Amino acid sequence: MESIVECDVVVIGAGISGLSAAWMLHKRDASLKVVVLEAKGRVGGRTETIKLKTGNGSMDFWDIGGQWVGSTQTHIIDVIKELGLATYKQFTDGTKLMQLGSYRVRSYKSEIPSFSLLGVLDLARFLHKVEQMRKTVDVFEPFECPEAKEWDKMTLDTFIQKTLWTEECKDSLIATSRTMLGCEPSQISLLFFLFYASAAGGLMPLIGNQEQSAQGMKVEGGTQQISQKMAKLVGEGAVLLNQPVVKVTQLADHVDVTTATNKLFRSKRVIFAVPPPQLGHIHFEPGLPYPKLNMIKRMPMGHLNKVIITYKHAFWKTAGLSGEAVMNGGPSPIAECSCGPLGIIMDATSVSGNPALVSFIASDQAVEWALQSADKRKSAVLKSLADLFGEDVFDCADYIEKEWSHEPYTMGAPIAIASPGTMAFLSEGLRKPFDKLHFAGTESATQWCGYMSGAVQAGYRAAMEVLYHVS
Ligand code: FAD
Repeated sequence: MESIVECDVVVIGAGISGLSAAWMLHKRDASLKVVVLEAKGRVGGRTETIKLKTGNGSMDFWDIGGQWVGSTQTHIIDVIKELGLATYKQFTDGTKLMQLGSYRVRSYKSEIPSFSLLGVLDLARFLHKVEQMRKTVDVFEPFECPEAKEWDKMTLDTFIQKTLWTEECKDSLIATSRTMLGCEPSQISLLFFLFYASAAGGLMPLIGNQEQSAQGMKVEGGTQQISQKMAKLVGEGAVLLNQPVVKVTQLADHVDVTTATNKLFRSKRVIFAVPPPQLGHIHFEPGLPYPKLNMIKRMPMGHLNKVIITYKHAFWKTAGLSGEAVMNGGPSPIAECSCGPLGIIMDATSVSGNPALVSFIASDQAVEWALQSADKRKSAVLKSLADLFGEDVFDCADYIEKEWSHEPYTMGAPIAIASPGTMAFLSEGLRKPFDKLHFAGTESATQWCGYMSGAVQAGYRAAMEVLYHVS
């Protein structure tokens, strides 16, 4: 063991949440010694900006993790402005496409998919019902709503099957929730889903791509810059990379944090800003209280692979298409898989105008397609896209697929979701401090939980808790 590093606060995890906490501590009291310990060799966590070859041979930046922001996500929008970064609007002009079940490809221009008249009524009724239900779910204490027990026992799938009349609406909601949450609706607590919608101010802000919605805007140059810039502002040497925390011991007047590199950090308070399941890989003395253990065990990460494909020409725009499409896999191009790999597809043209498409392989489709080689997945992705946009999709400049379930210290995406029967412990399990330990991370947020904005909100909240004790 090397010599002990003494500090005021240790923050574990240099994603947006941990760095927001450290930055807030630094802004409020620059005399505090704050150390951020990050397991990976980079900051940003579930945000990562990569370089890809463009259609004209140059290189440009794309987000292979968290990407979109919306104007109602005030915490992340304020941070983006404060850091001197800029946003630009998601391209949505033109016709959208939809291919569900065995239906032919259909096109539409409005926010609402091109359903039959019964389907449109069905969807409107569903959205109204969800809106009424989620308004009764308090974001701080979701389990205090009158129907909490009933809704927590029920899966989102049971609710969808019970409430909706038409297969087209069921298929489209299932496809959307797969990409949004990385899980099947049959794997998630209905109460968690309603809480998630409440934290976003409703279901429409979650699924829409208007400027105020979750998919409304992108960050010029990529979202990983948010963490990179915050890390610089927190101070030279304050963020230590390649330092996985393996042990945390609370003693009478301090906390000892040990890393896998055998370094020991001694501080007054500790903020955790890691995905909930990652807490399960750390040895705690004394052990974590049961509500926290329960959430660690029953909040698995979803499966979400993100695919970005760059092109010389935006052939979809030339054809009057927005690039947006929803499918629930479609027909499988190979016998080994039950359906095609894709869910949601969007235009991903960069701020410099380099054309690209982004799509997702989510949930059980990700698991099924993970059994195939990367080459087979790539040809299936391109074949599925060709069914929507034509043969031009094969003429790509660059192609990347990131499997977030293989990402060390993250192990899934986009978030950790609550299984049925867990919600009684959500607020205590994810947010409540345990003596000198405080808990941030997007999953603990009450506004835009699961999003980059929620990561900032949770980081700020944990920093304020700590300031009360150390400043
Ligand atoms: P993380 O970013 O997960 O950061 C946690 C950090 O803790 C990581 O750096 C990890 O390495 C580190 N860590 C873990 N264990 C340890 C340990 N033992 N010791 C030290 N460090 C440790 N959000 C949006 O707002 N818009 C989107 O469009 C969007 N799309 C997404 C698409 C994908 C493919 C993914 C993956 C995510 C997406 N999200 C999106 C979600 C968003 O990225 C996350 O909500 C946000 O980045 C989470 O930040 P965080 O700091 O809470 O956690």
